[in-house]
This record gives sequence, structure tokens and C-alpha cells, in this order.
Amino acid sequence: MQIYKGKRMHGKVGMGPVKVFDRAVVYKAYKTTITDRVAELERLRKAYEHTDAELYEIAKMAKGRIGRKEADIFDAHRMLLTDDNFRGEIKDMIVGESVCAEYAVSEVADKYVEFFKNSPSVEMQARAADIKDVSDRIIANLMGKRESLTLREPAIVLAEELSPSEVISLEKKYARGIVVTKGSLNSHAAILARAADIPMVVIEDESIFETKNGVRAVVDGVKGLFIVDPDLPSYERYVEKLREQSKNSEDLHLFMDKETVTSSGKKVVLLTNASSITDVEECNRYHADGIGLFRTEFLFMGNADPLSEQEQYKIYVNVLKKADGKPVTFRTADLGSDKKVDYITIPKEDNPALGLRGIRLSLLHRDFFKIQIKALLRAAAVGNLKIMYPMITSVSEMKQVQEIVEECKQELDKRRVKYAVPKQGIMIETPAAVMIAEELAEVSDFFSIGTNDLTQYALALDRQNGSLMDFMDPHHPAIVRMIEMAVKGAEAHGIEVGICGEMAMDPSFLKKYAELGLDYMSVNPTNILQIRKNISNMP
Ligand code: PEP
Ligand code: MG
Repeated sequence: MQIYKGKRMHGKVGMGPVKVFDRAVVYKAYKTTITDRVAELERLRKAYEHTDAELYEIAKMAKGRIGRKEADIFDAHRMLLTDDNFRGEIKDMIVGESVCAEYAVSEVADKYVEFFKNSPSVEMQARAADIKDVSDRIIANLMGKRESLTLREPAIVLAEELSPSEVISLEKKYARGIVVTKGSLNSHAAILARAADIPMVVIEDESIFETKNGVRAVVDGVKGLFIVDPDLPSYERYVEKLREQSKNSEDLHLFMDKETVTSSGKKVVLLTNASSITDVEECNRYHADGIGLFRTEFLFMGNADPLSEQEQYKIYVNVLKKADGKPVTFRTADLGSDKKVDYITIPKEDNPALGLRGIRLSLLHRDFFKIQIKALLRAAAVGNLKIMYPMITSVSEMKQVQEIVEECKQELDKRRVKYAVPKQGIMIETPAAVMIAEELAEVSDFFSIGTNDLTQYALALDRQNGSLMDFMDPHHPAIVRMIEMAVKGAEAHGIEVGICGEMAMDPSFLKKYAELGLDYMSVNPTNILQIRKNISNMP
């Protein structure tokens, strides 16, 4: 038995065989024999084309933002991509040895990397990293970049780090736990794991990778433990804990179809956060009052290509149908930082959380943003929806959004397409938004307080950085006061205000939320029953 101590991400316990997820292995270019060399060369040509287009986009954006000199790197990458010798050697290998393109690229690139690494000149050594970068890109394009972590049987996933889309791809019914060496409480990966009720811990000890695939293990999200190959007494203790856990959830199930009311009968609006259509079903299952935060970026992240207006419209209408008349607040794509899509290139950022994300990215990629707005306006004619904008820091951003919405309306008018203009609100998740809450309330129909980012920006604590977790204090008076200020700002203009960050799920704040008179709380579906129970005990 081996016990690793780490940090708790979700206070549940899970047991099952370990599955080690090693991204380097997943993306490794295995040697495969091919029979159709012409088809293989064509596949390679397309991957070159795709890679070149990506590099062109990066270089173009980089020129505008970080300066011509730095952007030259990407032009150099493009030149490397068209280098006759490099391409010639790859082609010769495919034709001469009948190996797949991924393998040929990887082998030829490794040879070049080795050569440059051993060069006496520092400039030449730096070329090694460029070659690796370019060849990784080509290989990723050849592989379709869509290699994902799929479980076909119960397992505890062990990985260095999981991206939000990888957590999303985990089948809930099979995921018994997640153990990562990097991660933090408010990272999107951890939020999604909690939403899916998957026990999760962070163990900052690389030796966990000595764990063999298939060995039985326990993830104790209550104590922050990862126990490999538990001895009999520990195993029995955890079997008992699992029994208690399911008994506890059975008890909570008594609150399944109850109204959310205090002991004196006061109604509290309890909504759920969602990232997929399945989450809408969860909202219904727990009899929540609607969806307070639909993170639409995850719809985009699950697709290799951008979703068209019609595709988005269909998804939104489907969500509304599933919500069965209950209100759904769709947040426009909050991409950037840890949430990326292949078709929107963001130049490398030293501080991605302070970079191109949320509304900034949308305003920069106007066409992409407009497609989403038009799809949402059309869906608003069909069902009960609101639109919410993420990462707002100024009134001017909202004014730009309003102009874009106007443009979208005119374009829909021209096409004679039916639409409606729903309520449009903003996430209060930056200290700037808190400080100008009154002004923002003038140009918004509602506020939703996003405490995950608010905490990150107010306490200057990177939400992705697991080593800062001990400094993360949701009870910090600065945060509590900021929530109060945001509520006051909303009240000054009589608009609705609720909370949708992870703090909404913290029972110790329920009394405070009641005092502040928040209009709603939006929480993960798996938290609904516990919160409903706690509310039922309030006066
Ligand atoms: C937040 O920041 O509190 C929030 C709800 O948004 P997200 O976690 O998706 O950034
Ligand atoms: Mg946020």
C-alpha cells in the first residue's frame, strides 16, 4: 500500500483501477506501415497546409500585438515548414519505407533537433526548439488533434494535468476519480470535475507515475489522499465509506423534488450551472429553477471547426426545449486562458489569465462573436433565455457589445429572420466591474457574480496555480465586501443580481446571501440537494 497526501478538489471518495493518462504517449507518433503511399502524401500535404495557415494567423496577430521582431519567429517557422530538405527527407521516408506520415515527420524532426542541439552556436541551438514546435504542430494536425481521454470501464484517471475538455470527455459513469500533479481548486478542470461529482485530488509528487495501470486505488477527496493498492483494513474502511456516501446521497434525495424554501416558507431561486446538454437534464432531475450559467465555450471546445449560426441556433433551441420553459442564461463564449479552440489563435501569453479572454477575445473576433449573438437572438424568439457577457471590465465594452447586437439585429432583419431581444447581463468577475457596478448596472439588465475569477483577480491568485491554494481564502473580507458592493450597484438601478461562482455552493455563506437579498444562486447540479437541505433549515 502506498499513501500520497495532497490537496482536495472535490470532497467525495472513489475507488477503482488506475488508468494513467500520459499525453506524450497519446500523441506519440507510432510506426505504422502504410499501403497507399499516394494517399499518405496527400494527407501530409493537407497537414502542411493546415499548419501553414495556423502559423500565418499566429504571425499576423503577433505582428500587431507583440512587435515585428518577435513575430519573425513564426515566419521562421513557416519557412522551416517549406524547407525542401526537411520535406524531401520526410517524403523519401514515406515512399521508401512505407511508414505513416506521423512517424516520418517525428523521425526526421528528431534527427534535425539532435543536429541543432549539438551545434556550437547558440542561435543554431535555438533552432532545435523551432523544429520541435513545427513538427509537433504537423503531427497534431495529422492526428486531427482530437485524441481524447475516453473511459470504457470504471477507472481512476492519473495524469499530470487535465484540460477542461479532457475532464468533459470523461464518462461520468466510469470516472471513479481524478488524480493530477498540477491543478487548483478554481481551475476549470476542477470545477467541471465537481460538477460531474468526480472525486479529485492534486498530488504534487511525480512518483505517483510509478503507479501501474490497472492497480486498485482510492481517491479520498475528503482528506486529499491517493491510496494505491490499499491493504485489507483500508480497503474495507473505504468500502464502508462508499456505502455511507451513497446512503448520504439517498438521504439528500428526499429533497429531490421539494421546492427550495426556508423553514418559514420563503422561496429561494436555485439555478444550476451547465456546460452541456446533459447538464440541462441534471437541472431538471434536481428540480432546479433553471440554468443560471450556461458556459457555451464548452460547446465550441468540443468541436474541431467553428459552429455555424444554424448549428448554434439548433443547440440553443434544443437546450431551451430540454429546460422546458425554465429560464436559461447563456454566457457567450468565455474563451482564452485555459479554454482554447484551434481555430482562434491566441499568441503565446506570459499571463493568459490577464490576457485575451472572455469579452476581449469576442470583441477582437467580431465575426465569430456575431454568429453566436445572431444564433442567440433567434433562439430568444423560441424560448426563455438571457444572454450574459463574461469578463467585463468597462462600460465601453458593454457599449461595443450593444453596437454589435444592433448590427446583428439589422442583419437578421435584412434576412427576414425571426428573433427577439432578450435580457442581457454581465458577469461581475473583475474588481474593475465591482468598482463601477453602478455604471455597469445602467447598461445591463442583470448581474451575475463570478467569484472564481473575482477571487483570482482581487487576491492576485492565479486560479490555475495549485501551489497557491493555501492562500485562497473565499472568506477574505475583500471578497465579501466586493459582493456587497456589486449588490448595491445592482440595487441602485433595480436590476437582478445573483451569484454563480463556486462560492455560491459554500453553505457557510448562505446566511450572508440571504442578508444581502441576492435574487438567485446558481450552483452545480450535484450541489442542489445539499443547499436545498441547508436552506430548509434557515429561518
Ligand atoms: C467565475 O469566474 O466565477 C465563473 C462563474 O466563471 P468561470 O468559472 O467559468 O470562469
Ligand atoms: Mg469566470
